[in-house]
Amino acid sequence: MSRYVFDFIDGNKDLKDLLGGKGANLAEMTRMGLPVPPGFTVTTDACREYLHTGRLPGGLLDEVEEHLRLVEARLGRRLGDPAEPLLLSVRSGGKFSMPGMMETILDIGLNDTTVRGLARRSGDDRFAWDSYRRLIQMFGRTVHGIPGDLFEAEFADGADPRELVETFKKIFAAYTGHDFPQSPHEQLYSAISAVFTSWNADRAVLYRRQEGIPQDLGTAVTVMAMVFGNHGDRSGTGVAFTRDPATGRRGAYGDYLPDAQGEDVVAGIRNTVGLDELARLDPASHVQLLAVMEKLERRYRDLCDIEFTIEDGKLWMLQTRVGKRTPAAAFVIAAQLVEEGTITLDEALRRVTGEQLAHLMFPVFDPVSAPEPVTTGVAASPGAAVGAIVFDSAAAVAAPGPVILVRHETNPDDLPGMIAAQGILTARGGKTSHAAVVARGMGKTCVCGADEAVVDAVAGTLTIGGTVLRAGDVISLDGTDGKVYAGAVPVRPSRVARFFEGELASADDPLVSAVRRLLGHAGEVARLEVHANADTAADAARARRFGATGVGLCRTEHMFLGARRELVERLILADTDQERTAALDALLPLQRDDFTALFAAMDGLPVTVRLIDPPLHEFLPPLEELTARVARAEALGEPAGDDARLLAAVRRMHEQNPMLGLRGVRLGLVVPGLFAMQVRAVAEAAAARVAAGGNPRPEIMVPLVGTIQELDLVRAEALRILSGIPLAPPIRIGTMIEVPRAALTAGEIARSADFFSFGTNDLTQMTWGFSRDDVEGAFFGRYLDLGVFTASPFETLDRTGVGQLVRIAVDRGRATRPDLTIGVCGEHGGDPASVRFFHEAGLDYVSCSPYRIPIARLEAARATL
Ligand code: ADP
Ligand code: MG
Ligand code: MG
Repeated sequence: MSRYVFDFIDGNKDLKDLLGGKGANLAEMTRMGLPVPPGFTVTTDACREYLHTGRLPGGLLDEVEEHLRLVEARLGRRLGDPAEPLLLSVRSGGKFSMPGMMETILDIGLNDTTVRGLARRSGDDRFAWDSYRRLIQMFGRTVHGIPGDLFEAEFADGADPRELVETFKKIFAAYTGHDFPQSPHEQLYSAISAVFTSWNADRAVLYRRQEGIPQDLGTAVTVMAMVFGNHGDRSGTGVAFTRDPATGRRGAYGDYLPDAQGEDVVAGIRNTVGLDELARLDPASHVQLLAVMEKLERRYRDLCDIEFTIEDGKLWMLQTRVGKRTPAAAFVIAAQLVEEGTITLDEALRRVTGEQLAHLMFPVFDPVSAPEPVTTGVAASPGAAVGAIVFDSAAAVAAPGPVILVRHETNPDDLPGMIAAQGILTARGGKTSHAAVVARGMGKTCVCGADEAVVDAVAGTLTIGGTVLRAGDVISLDGTDGKVYAGAVPVRPSRVARFFEGELASADDPLVSAVRRLLGHAGEVARLEVHANADTAADAARARRFGATGVGLCRTEHMFLGARRELVERLILADTDQERTAALDALLPLQRDDFTALFAAMDGLPVTVRLIDPPLHEFLPPLEELTARVARAEALGEPAGDDARLLAAVRRMHEQNPMLGLRGVRLGLVVPGLFAMQVRAVAEAAAARVAAGGNPRPEIMVPLVGTIQELDLVRAEALRILSGIPLAPPIRIGTMIEVPRAALTAGEIARSADFFSFGTNDLTQMTWGFSRDDVEGAFFGRYLDLGVFTASPFETLDRTGVGQLVRIAVDRGRATRPDLTIGVCGEHGGDPASVRFFHEAGLDYVSCSPYRIPIARLEAARATL
């Protein structure tokens, strides 16, 4: 009874944990009756034990010998037999595919004697000695770590392989201090240990870290009979896909190399030919190959990739697995398989992800026309952006044409410029830097941390190596791979984005119709609704086209910017009730018109309006600027007037920690008339829509509530105002849950709230006790490296901590008021992993930026499966 070794015939595709992907799938193909050379797999258990103890588990080699005898019996050849030698490959393969990261040794079993046997049996001297040469090289490199170039330096095409064997043996002996092992069994045992050891090769460790593959799984080792593609014209080797992995197009697709062994294809030494050429060279094998691929697709119910070898006109399968594919191919193939009756629509949804859909929505560079990049940074937010360089936010806003905002790093003051720019390039900061997070939220292209770039905003230069670029020079950013180009690389909007914008019918485009089909089904299975964070009628209209069923967050502070700043200044500087009322009266009609347009765009759907949230001094000029202005006026002997009063106000309102200061509901309770004006604007806008025959469904949301007393005060005043506007429809009043105390006292707060909406950005920063604007550049990168975070908690909701507060608030809120509507607004609402959590936590909707809506819709559906 074997403990560590499985014959191919005893395994199957579901044993990947134990046999690795390669071993499990070779077993599956063997059971399917496909032509697989006989062999067996040593389990990952054995590898883990080996890595733990430093030696092969007791009894393992006996088991290997036992299974080897079965292989020998099946083929009628023996390992080490001088006349009819069996040769073996010893291959790595863990549960998750790690292409090329670990080791494989071919042609085990050759030595000074068997090489002659192989030559006689095959009638091909050259082939036999070349195989021996390959073995010494691979074995030397893998088992003894002999640098590859020592061998490659001696290698010359057309050299006599018999002489090369002599040379390689000398290199081997010189490097290791002993001769190349002549015992085939010893070769086999060393090869197995070496493959186990390759699990911990630097590049394998790095790859796993990058891909999130656990480091403790270990690799299996597959030992199988060699077949020879390097055995003349009627032999060859190739890789193939059952469908095109780039586009998903139906039909086999592959590369074939005549008269070659497997590793030659990957090494790219010689040019491969297509499968149609194989059809010409060896029609019988080609037909058989297609038949095998069809069987594999039917078995795996998905795109498969395979490695195959043809030896003297006989086809052998050496590997298969469910193949990697581009995001576009993922959607196309999933929809095709549904159409072909292979999988259900539910299964199709499981096979695509929100991240893939996100990629499909970003504009794309036309790949043929891209020149050499000038530098490469961190691919922070995908997309392709082209524009003239600007070095500050104001210039970005003022520029007539498309611009790229180039900053050393960004901060919240750059927001208007980031909104105005096509793309953002920074020299400092990683994937969680301010620029990266904000850009992703906005669906804006961003390359950050391009550390070869020197940004001198004062001189107006961007220097990269010897290249100096100036304001107005055009650059192109590829947020998908982090590349930065000088000049304009042509872009085009993605087809999927054009479809959501309503510009593209789906029937004629396989990708678009696949996306449409899967999202249609998503709409049927999702329980979570998806609302939009939209501040303007234009945003709301786009959100609606993208499938939003409401606005979950309208940030009213955006209505206080631009020309209206002056009114806000007047409000802040008001010394008397009269002055204050005058400023508010001037703001009222402006806000009302904004809301009227917004309600029209979302007619019939809920629109959640958040009362003003940020500290008022954010609407005033920066302290330094005011100080300079006042100083200049004084120097010239001119009156500083309003500037002096503003300066005094800014000083008075200065806060050490504005995030925890006078903002949100606190502001509403301290500045008389401010919230009242906003409530009135909402109600009057709704009344106007009703009068115009519309169906407005506004809701009023109070930010930063920590206790029911705050909410009660705002609510009482709001109800008073609403009752004075008879035409206004019923308006629900609810609260954000973003202060930890609100989550803990949600049971009380629900008595006065018609709905909750989690503000997970604030809830995250207040729960962790760090401010988003300050920490991302300061230490997040380090925390990610150290593994303190696996993802930024501002990107993916921290289930363990912040998630507990969410669950507490849901439970306590619904205990008080079972019909309480609960949603979430903030960046997490469009993050796939977080959407799943919100589904599990029983929320009613998530709200996210318009471009994330299709992604959230897809993930909301996937969360139910
Ligand atoms: P990787 O996981 O890096 O792809 P593989 O174990 O698949 O490594 O092996 C590398 C190459 O060796 C492959 O191209 C494969 O086709 C070839 N190969 C492996 N085993 C055999 C065999 N038994 N006969 C012929 N070629 C083989
Ligand atoms: Mg392979
Ligand atoms: Mg907030």
